[in-house]
Amino acid sequence: MSALDPDLRSALATFAGHPRVLVATDFDGVLAPLVLDPLDSRPVEGGMPALEGLAALPGVTVALVSGRALEPLRTLSGARDPLVLVGSHGAEDSRREGGLALDEEQKALLETLSGELETLAAGHPGVRVEVKPAARVVHTRGLAPEVGGPALEAALALGQRHPSLVVTPGKEVVELAVSHVGKGPALVALADEVGADATLYLGDDVTDEQGFAALADDPDRARAARRLTVRVGDGQTVAQHRIPDEHAVVELLETLLAARREAGPAR
Ligand SMILES: [Mg+2]
Repeated sequence: MSALDPDLRSALATFAGHPRVLVATDFDGVLAPLVLDPLDSRPVEGGMPALEGLAALPGVTVALVSGRALEPLRTLSGARDPLVLVGSHGAEDSRREGGLALDEEQKALLETLSGELETLAAGHPGVRVEVKPAARVVHTRGLAPEVGGPALEAALALGQRHPSLVVTPGKEVVELAVSHVGKGPALVALADEVGADATLYLGDDVTDEQGFAALADDPDRARAARRLTVRVGDGQTVAQHRIPDEHAVVELLETLLAARREAGPAR
């Protein structure tokens, strides 16, 4: 029995007929079953071949959009060109030099931040600075409170001196990020960039809900009306459709591939 209801089948047929389409999907919980150790995650059988088949057709751009950093996403998915990889919730993009989707101002700020944190760490022995693609994270775990406390205060003060930093304090940790892109803005920007007439997005989690919402609010109102958003699994959603699991994702992608071969622009 098919996991796709008639409404979704008909929406896929319509979507397949648009001249330029963006087919975007989350990775974990959508293309790859959720596992205990994130490094054990592997794509479900048939998923990547269907995406590669779609990416080979005229007028189709395929993107994996994930919270994972770019390199592990590339390794675990096995994705190759022309598939686009968007990592770190939009802060990384496989098409950018060095993979980082930051503008010049953000890159300069990241450099300033690194320098200032070096000074901070030198003044507070034992403090660790974690390097993330678009952020630095100050850790004081394991330090005595009289050492760790002032270090975290210094990190917060540093954050306040640079209003464009996104500062996220936690327990014995402060994250200072130069960009807070999110999957929603990343999806709309990608759709703009490739000139998509319609965007499909598949997701299973809270961050994907931002993606669904952003596509509904797409400033290109015609493209917003032609969006196709699909939630995988249960949980509250603003997506238009729902399918049960990764195997249904494969069925959906294979159905879309067949429809696009029939209805899409000729080679
Ligand atoms: Mg997911």
